[in-house]
Amino acid sequence: MSENTVPTSPATAPAASPVGSPTAESLIPLTPEESRAVRDRLDEAKARAASAAERSGRKAEDVTILLATKTQPAEKILVALEHGFTVIGENRVQELTGKAEALAGIAHESHLIGPLQKNKVNHTLRVATCIQSIDSVALAQRIQNRLEAVGDDPTEVAAGGTIDVFVQVNTSREESKSGVAPEEADALVEAVQGMDRLRLRGLMTIGLPGSTPEEIRPSYRDLVAVRTRLLDSGLLTPDQTELSMGMSNDFELAIEEGATMVRLGSSIFGARPPIAR
Ligand SMILES: *Cc1c(COP(=O)(O)O)cnc(C)c1O
Repeated sequence: MSENTVPTSPATAPAASPVGSPTAESLIPLTPEESRAVRDRLDEAKARAASAAERSGRKAEDVTILLATKTQPAEKILVALEHGFTVIGENRVQELTGKAEALAGIAHESHLIGPLQKNKVNHTLRVATCIQSIDSVALAQRIQNRLEAVGDDPTEVAAGGTIDVFVQVNTSREESKSGVAPEEADALVEAVQGMDRLRLRGLMTIGLPGSTPEEIRPSYRDLVAVRTRLLDSGLLTPDQTELSMGMSNDFELAIEEGATMVRLGSSIFGARPPIAR
């Protein structure tokens, strides 16, 4: 799909998402029981994350829970934001755009956690406050160029002239998965550091999808090792040490290994409906 087929104005545009994407119009309010179930699962995840942080010698505040909200209606996401959670992540820019209006009344960070095609950069910058999927110099440069071109025009840049980013590293040891290879992370990080509109926060990985918690542990150790190497060589500064890793099935293990941000979807919102493609 080309850039021209999506609305050109920011979050306030009527949702014109492709068929299959949730839109503000299609929402049905949650019942009190459904809202309570979401809040209960949030409380439980928060307690488990806090225990895992303590086991790893850190404080509960050192770990952020990002809510992975793909396919979930804005009504459910609002329940979570009203319950005190402040960071959401979407895989597709269309979903970020489609839900932005419904969520505009409550302060939160909006992260893109799925792959970003270069022709979607402009749209993403209108709605995202952070892009976790930086996996090539060309993509980073495209974002930098766009930000240089539009300055801090609030209709073009949600985050005010700059954008937070994570470099995504492919720790799955598989060819096909997104993210830069661990040995290529140094060059990409160095390039991003030279782009003044990108504020690098740290590294992100998905690991090996579908694996058991113990099978995925080496992926998370790999990401920690990349961070250590980049810190030792001075390519990362001590305030750029965030590690976004861990999902519903393995987030406690990820925290034990050093995650500073875990991305939780199904354990909070329940099973996802199949994604229309
Ligand atoms: C969906 C998704 C998650 C959350 O997965 P769950 O298993 O539902 O917790 C985390 N990260 C990314 C990149 C995702 O796409």
